Amino acid sequence: MKRVGVLALQGAVREHLQSIEACGAEAVSVKWPKDLESLDALILPGGESTAMRRLIDRYNMMEPLRQFAETGKPMFGTCAGLILLAETVVGEDQPHLGVMDVAVERNSFGRQVDSFEVPLEINGIEGAFEAVFIRAPHIVSAGPSTEVLCVHDGKIVMAKNGQFLGCSFHPELTEDHRVTAYFLSMIPSKSGLLLPN
Ligand code: GLN
Repeated sequence: MKRVGVLALQGAVREHLQSIEACGAEAVSVKWPKDLESLDALILPGGESTAMRRLIDRYNMMEPLRQFAETGKPMFGTCAGLILLAETVVGEDQPHLGVMDVAVERNSFGRQVDSFEVPLEINGIEGAFEAVFIRAPHIVSAGPSTEVLCVHDGKIVMAKNGQFLGCSFHPELTEDHRVTAYFLSMIPSKSGLLLPN
């Protein structure tokens, strides 16, 4: 069974855990460096990126998260999680993890409308996906190796860059688990490692 972690320091953790389980994988709540051991993939949830960053530092998770990224295992940042993954955060000197080849801008969908729901067409997912945006960031630019998966209102709201998947919205807040399933499909199958005996 695939083991998928959710960084559980702040934000929409429980819904991601439930969505992973709904997709038939084992969900692991990640608070300490040791929790990253033996995971096949990791989700960085939505919430508040500056608050999450403070907790990452307090729990000494920055270096272990960078090391996890270096293993090449899939990582999925949703909303604030996307901000944590991005190589560039507009208006900020330093990125957080800085591993995904995109630049993001925070709170990019206007002040009046803090949150909204909209059906999206996502490359690789059949039919519309009802997406919940909450003070969402968007991807202002993406490197040449980044595949744009969804654009809303002229703004990139979902993209994949090698092992990294990021989206502006909260795919875990509805009963539709297809975006989580898409992420789980990025985990290489272990069958190739089975030795004949
Ligand atoms: N606005 C938040 C931030 O900048 C992200 C919001 C969210 O994750 N729903 O971190």
